[in-house]
Amino acid sequence: MADCIFCMIANGEIPSKVAYEDDQVLAFHDIDPKAPVHVLIIPKKHFSSILEINEGESGTLAHMFLVANRLAHELGVAESGFRLVVNTGKDGGQTVPHLHLHLTGGRAFGWPAG
Ligand code: 5GP
Ligand code: ZN
Repeated sequence: MADCIFCMIANGEIPSKVAYEDDQVLAFHDIDPKAPVHVLIIPKKHFSSILEINEGESGTLAHMFLVANRLAHELGVAESGFRLVVNTGKDGGQTVPHLHLHLTGGRAFGWPAG
């Protein structure tokens, strides 16, 4: 989608520090990390948020979580623990309208989230 910053990252128009890539998803390090490990896992296809995912796309979501599992091991937080977050809409704190899964770890997080 034109002028979507994460679509531009997915197609290489904007550089990013890639952690994982395949034909369906890209994972890259957050430009403003909120934890020692902070990776964003995005579908290459544009969805504005989780609200645009229907049954036909559920495989993409499952794949994003499998990539999170793999990266948690590769980035050394599988044992210590980590948090997966999908911010959605205004109250959810979503700032980039392209679906993304935050993988954060390397420190302890509070609950409930602020
Ligand atoms: P949200 O607030 O929408 O859940 O998360 C968006 C995330 O994207 C933020 O953590 C922000 O730091 C990150 N971000 C925004 N622009 C860029 C960018 O150009 N490159 C990278 N690597 N991360 C970005
Ligand atoms: Zn997009």
